[in-house]
Amino acid sequence: MMKLRVKVVGKKDQNFIKRENTNLILDLIQTHGLISRAELAKLAKMSPTSISRIVSSLIAMGLIQETNEFTTGVGRRATKLRLNPEAAFSVGVALDEKQISLMIINLLGKPVATKTIDRVREKQPEEIVLVIHQEMKSLLNDAGVNDQYITGVCVAIPGIIHHEDGIVYKSAQLGWDNVAFREMLEQVIHYPIHIDNELNLQAYAEKLSANNKTSESIVVIGFGSGVGSALIEGDEIYRGSINAAGEIGHTVVTPNGPLCTCGNFGCLQTYIAESFLLEEANKHHPVERMEDIVRYAEEEKNWAMNMINRVITYAAITINNSVCVSNPEKVILTGSLMEQSEAISKEIIREAKNKLWSPLNDFLSIEISTLGEQGVVMGAAMFSQREHINQLFFEKASV
Ligand SMILES: [Zn+2]
Repeated sequence: MMKLRVKVVGKKDQNFIKRENTNLILDLIQTHGLISRAELAKLAKMSPTSISRIVSSLIAMGLIQETNEFTTGVGRRATKLRLNPEAAFSVGVALDEKQISLMIINLLGKPVATKTIDRVREKQPEEIVLVIHQEMKSLLNDAGVNDQYITGVCVAIPGIIHHEDGIVYKSAQLGWDNVAFREMLEQVIHYPIHIDNELNLQAYAEKLSANNKTSESIVVIGFGSGVGSALIEGDEIYRGSINAAGEIGHTVVTPNGPLCTCGNFGCLQTYIAESFLLEEANKHHPVERMEDIVRYAEEEKNWAMNMINRVITYAAITINNSVCVSNPEKVILTGSLMEQSEAISKEIIREAKNKLWSPLNDFLSIEISTLGEQGVVMGAAMFSQREHINQLFFEKASV
C-alpha cells in the first residue's frame, strides 16, 4: 500500500504563511481600492474559504470594511471590500546631517501630514530625541490624529544601524558611534519604535510603489553626502550580518586614490560623495554647494566639467559593480546628485548601460527614483505600518 507522505509544517512556518497571505490580501485590496472576496480568491490563487477567513479577521481588526458597492455584470452580486484608511496611522522620521523630516501616513499608505525642519544647533542624540518628540507631537496635533490610532514610529538614519538592537553603530554623517538611540527615543515616545538605515527604508518604499511592485529584485543606489546601496529581494531587505550590506561607497576603486573617512585610500565615495567633491573643488575655486559645481560645469568652466565627467564615470562604475554583484531586475537611482540636473542623471544612466556586460544589461532597467527626497521618510512610515500589521497578526489574529 502506498504511504502518504505528510509534510509537517511547524508553528513558525504556519505563522509565516499566515502573515504572507494576510499581507498579500491587504496589498491586493490596497492596489484595487475596491474588490470582492471572489476577485481576491482569483488573484491570490487561494480558496474562497481561506479568503473568507482572512477577510473576517481583517474586518474584526478594523483594518478593512465592507462597502455598499457591488460587483456588476453576470453572476451573483458581491459586496466590495476596501481598506479603512482611518484604522491606523504610522509615523516616519528621516534624520540626516542637515534636516529632520517627518511624515504621517494612513492605512492606505497615503501621507496625511509632512514636515521638514533644518537642524541648526542640535547635534547630540539627546537633543535630537527631544526635537523628534516635540515635532511629532505638534504634527499629530495639527493633523488631528488621535493617539490611540498611532501604530508606531520608524526613524531612518544614515550609517550602519543595528536595527534589531536599536543601536546606531556608526554614522559618519551624524558623527555618532554606538548610540542606543531607540532606547533613548523610548524614554519619551511611547509607541513601538524602529530604527533602520535610510537607504534600506527608501528601498522598501520603492518596492511598494506602483512602478516596482512586480519587480522581484531591486537595487537602490543613493548618491549624496555618501554613497550607498540597498537590495530588496522578494519583499525583504537584504541586510547581511550586521545590516551593513550595500556599503558600496567604501569599495576601493583606486588603491592609491584619495584618503577616505574610513581610513582607506581610493574608496568609491571619494570620487562621488558631495563632501569630497566640495573639498576638491575648493582647491580650485570657492564653492559652497554641489549646485555651484554643476552651474560652473554648465558655464563650461574646464575644472567643473572635468569634475562632473569624473562623477559620471564613477557613478556608472558604481552601478556596474552593484549589478555584477547582485544581478537585479531594476536599479533605482536616488540622492542629491540625481536631483541636481536631468542631464547629469541621464548621462550616468547612458554611461552605465554602455559599460555593462550585455547578459546583465539585457534584462536590466535603470531608473531615477520617482519618490525623490521623500522616499526615505515615506519608507520609514511604511515600514512601521507593515511591522504593526505583522505584530497584530501574530498577537491577535486567528486566521
Ligand atoms: Zn572608505
